[in-house]
Amino acid sequence: MRTVTLNNGVEMPILGFGVYQIPAEETEQAVSGALAAGYRSLDTAAAYRNEEAVGRAIRSSGIAREDLFVTTKLWVSDAGEDRARRAFETSLRRLGLDHVDLYLIHQPYGDVYGSWRAMESLHREGLARAIGVSNFHPDRLVDLIDHNEITPAVNQIETHPFHQRIADQKLMRERRVQIESWGPFAEGRNNLFTHPVLVRIAAAHGKSVAQVVLRWLIQRDVVVIPKSVRAERMAENFDVFGFELTADQMAAVAALDTGTTLFFDHRDPVMTSRLGTSTLDD
Ligand code: NAP
Repeated sequence: MRTVTLNNGVEMPILGFGVYQIPAEETEQAVSGALAAGYRSLDTAAAYRNEEAVGRAIRSSGIAREDLFVTTKLWVSDAGEDRARRAFETSLRRLGLDHVDLYLIHQPYGDVYGSWRAMESLHREGLARAIGVSNFHPDRLVDLIDHNEITPAVNQIETHPFHQRIADQKLMRERRVQIESWGPFAEGRNNLFTHPVLVRIAAAHGKSVAQVVLRWLIQRDVVVIPKSVRAERMAENFDVFGFELTADQMAAVAALDTGTTLFFDHRDPVMTSRLGTSTLDD
């Protein structure tokens, strides 16, 4: 598996498996399927409520811990130095692990700076091999970097053909923060899977639209974590290393950028308040 080298030297697979919106009772089977298909990087979160099932699938796989890359995330209601540490310990217990490979601040709200201090300590203690953020726009990211000791290794943000984050990626590269895509297929919005430009490129390679989208992101050095509960799609999404998009095809996909979210803007005050005050009990 191709990897990217994070700013602290840790190697992260460029392709992993996301488990958002997989119900807890289906997650163990889905993750077992993904591991059998060859995935070694798993992306969960306290807010997905399926960390325990991810942990069970890891244990039953028999795969050596050092061969896996496990990411989980801190929810906003656990922001702050003390709460973040307790939340991390809860996640670790649920996963049944003694460390994670990547721990992310899930949303850019609440006492982010307190959370980050806790995460810096967790990293120094070896409990999180890398620490990072998610859904941070450039202003928030730069502010966090400039006023703390450890630069986030990763920023996981909505990134797909209709919202490409070209400027964000450029800034992150300058600041040595790895971009990671969530929603690589935009969860199918905008009829992504039948988009004529993507269908044409897929046909030229004898591949699927999903494979073209993942390939396009990987060629941009974007880490991807597609989600599927179907074994055939897990295999399809994993099989993206045997072909290459041409410069013209990369440019054709680049032209699909709308420069705006298909979900919601994390700077929208209504969403900032709604999401920023939500708890894991909601
Ligand atoms: P996504 O990966 O863009 O899309 C998943 C959807 O595409 C599912 O409906 C899936 O259906 C379908 N699909 C998957 N492979 C396919 C294929 N080859 N052909 C056709 N359809 C296919 O969306 P996502 O799950 O939102 O994003 C991926 C991961 O990013 C998440 O699982 C999560 O780990 C992470 N994420 C993070 C945040 C954040 O705030 N940090 C937000 C969203 C997501 P089936 O399952 O039925 O195959």
